[in-house]
Amino acid sequence: MRPFSYERAADLPAAFAASQDAPTTALLAGGTTLLDLMKLDVAAPARLVDITGLAASTPALAEIRPASDGGVVIGALARMSAVAEHPLVADQYPVVSQALVKGASAQLRNMATIGGNLLQRTRCVYFRDVSIPECNKRVPGSGCAARLGVHRLSAVLGASPACIATHPSDLAVALVALQAVVHLAGSGGERRIAADAFFLLPGDHPERETALAPGEVITAVELPPLPVGARSHYLKVRDRESYEFALTSAAVAIHVADGLIAAAHIALGGVATKPWRSPEAERALIGNVPSRPLFKDASAAAVAGAAPLPHNAFKVPLARRTLERALATVTGLAEGEMP
Ligand SMILES: Cc1cc2nc3c(=O)[nH]c(=O)nc-3n(C[C@H](O)[C@H](O)[C@H](O)COP(=O)(O)OP(=O)(O)OC[C@H]3O[C@@H](n4cnc5c(N)ncnc54)[C@H](O)[C@@H]3O)c2cc1C
Repeated sequence: MRPFSYERAADLPAAFAASQDAPTTALLAGGTTLLDLMKLDVAAPARLVDITGLAASTPALAEIRPASDGGVVIGALARMSAVAEHPLVADQYPVVSQALVKGASAQLRNMATIGGNLLQRTRCVYFRDVSIPECNKRVPGSGCAARLGVHRLSAVLGASPACIATHPSDLAVALVALQAVVHLAGSGGERRIAADAFFLLPGDHPERETALAPGEVITAVELPPLPVGARSHYLKVRDRESYEFALTSAAVAIHVADGLIAAAHIALGGVATKPWRSPEAERALIGNVPSRPLFKDASAAAVAGAAPLPHNAFKVPLARRTLERALATVTGLAEGEMP
């Protein structure tokens, strides 16, 4: 690891200034992924500015509170474990609690923050290994070693010739499904952006991953209200049952009224270059009676645009079955129950 200086941000403007100075300066929240990247030499900031103390002067940064419209606002410095356990989240948004609990380990979740979680970088092995020169995300214009190399874990949706790296966050999948809103602030003021728009497709510039501008920080995430009686669920499939990133995952929120699906919120994880909302699956579900054949069709629609490579083709049927299963679970039609 290269030498770096450490200081605590005195106030939010100091955090904005530090963000403006990226990548020479990096904001430090829980540090659970930034320090890993520094040890690997993937990130090499000369200066770390710790923002965790800002919650003392600006408590909203770490609070989990009801929004005026019935939703919930989660401060960016709230820890993953605190959010997962909070009654406002666990009771109204099980999909968020479950996504958080399925991520990392208990120790990491006690340190890691919501803002840091959304800004974690891909786990693509070629991105994380600086001895491999070709990675457009790490060194723009250098190529994509994963395309010709081992790409079992790579994306089947949203990839570009420049990059096939998957987005790693479980929480982000739940937020995109729920159509959550990310709150940003900088010296120019505050702005809000839909979670789906916050995460960018790689296109020709995979080094640009989010809509966060230089000089901005994430201050909060807002979960919109769900209709009374709506149910949600997060299903994650991985190579081992704990302490592992998703091969595939599905975040679903469904509202059934008078026997018909009145609202559907669907996103896939582990399979795409960004948390992958599926309007195709949502359209297939809305207005119909919940049933296993319907879920099969909707899940097929969600992966219809997949473009797999030789090693990751298994992800297409796996993602389809993951979504099918998540829908069956959330509507009580899982195996062993009456259709
Ligand atoms: C072994 C291991 C397993 C893991 N498994 C999973 C998993 O299965 N699923 C999953 O989702 N995650 C997993 N993670 C990732 C983990 O969730 C992240 O490390 C964590 O959420 C990052 O939060 P942090 O506060 O520690 O971020 P930091 O490491 O402090 O920061 C991460 C990045 O975000 C920036 N940043 C942080 N906060 C803000 C802010 N408010 N505004 C602007 N920039 C900010 C930092 O500058 C940095 O660039 C795993 C991590 C490890 C080490």
